[in-house]
Amino acid sequence: MTDWRGDLPPVRGRLLKDEPLGPFTWLRVGGPAELLFLPADEEDLGNLLGQLPPEVPVTVLGAGSNVIVRDGGVKGLVVRLAGRAFGEVAAEPGEGRMIAGAAALDANLARAAGRAGVAGLEFFAGIPGTVGGALTMNAGCYGGETADILSVAWGVDRQGRKQIFTPLDLGYSYRVSRAPPGLIWTGAVFQGHAGDPEQIAASIDVITRRREATQPLREKTGGSTFKNPPGYSAWKLIDDAGWRGRGFGGAMISHLHANFLINTGAATAAELEGLGETIRADVAAKSGVMLEWEIKRIGEEKPITP
Ligand SMILES: Cc1cc2nc3c(=O)[nH]c(=O)nc-3n(C[C@H](O)[C@H](O)[C@H](O)COP(=O)(O)OP(=O)(O)OC[C@H]3O[C@@H](n4cnc5c(N)ncnc54)[C@H](O)[C@@H]3O)c2cc1C
Repeated sequence: MTDWRGDLPPVRGRLLKDEPLGPFTWLRVGGPAELLFLPADEEDLGNLLGQLPPEVPVTVLGAGSNVIVRDGGVKGLVVRLAGRAFGEVAAEPGEGRMIAGAAALDANLARAAGRAGVAGLEFFAGIPGTVGGALTMNAGCYGGETADILSVAWGVDRQGRKQIFTPLDLGYSYRVSRAPPGLIWTGAVFQGHAGDPEQIAASIDVITRRREATQPLREKTGGSTFKNPPGYSAWKLIDDAGWRGRGFGGAMISHLHANFLINTGAATAAELEGLGETIRADVAAKSGVMLEWEIKRIGEEKPITP
């Protein structure tokens, strides 16, 4: 590929060459983005995508709470929605609706809904990602998931065009959405129902305390490493295989939750992914169940130099 980075239209946001991506993720590992784009707003995003050579791959990062960026970094354009326009949250309490930009944090959306007396979004308080990440991952907990409350979502496709989707278009299932490849979510409307702000705040408190007691929230982690296979709990399979609190290099399995990978300080992405793969093989050998990654692994492995 020619140096496509030198031949791009002006943007109102920021374009950063060879920007390390580790600091943008919870696990704090990984190499640089060939080019990181922090668009100012949807129009800025659409303009650049529309003029980006079609062969340049595009990758999106939300809050980085469910990804491992590999050590060799990510080729092409990495988009992170940072502009204020993407983080806005608004309530239509009369309609029981919340409108959110894709960079809004799920927990902020849950709290704003509570203050406005819109119930049904409380589970978002337990998820440390963005609305865009939730739309892609069908994020959920404690019996609620994104697909249940999504009314409509919109985004910008690889050609820079705005597209609008209903949940039916997105074929949601457990931690899966079937959005067109390359689509970047920019906003969504969620349908809740009228509720009492004090009761909603109390439910959110319960969720928050339960999370603090059961998950390593202050560690460098990536959330659930593997999906729960039908009829099993991933954490139980990993625990039964003897991996709780074990690992190698700077990568280990949390003592608190056996489905959480932790970077103890100086882990590489290769160590974290390698530990995950070792556990998959061991669990398969011991239980006959092959775990499927929930954490998204993006980018290139770093070549080993002699
Ligand atoms: C401590 C902890 C607890 C967690 N608990 C839960 C839980 O209970 N339930 C649960 O479901 N998840 C949980 N997670 C995982 C994670 O928070 C969710 O998957 C979340 O939805 C990811 O959002 P994000 O913004 O961090 O996305 P990222 O991790 O940055 O990205 C995840 C995927 O979403 C895509 N993506 C992100 N933004 C956009 C966008 N704007 N447009 C298109 N694609 C996009 C990325 O390309 C990637 O494929 C937890 C994570 C942690 C660290």
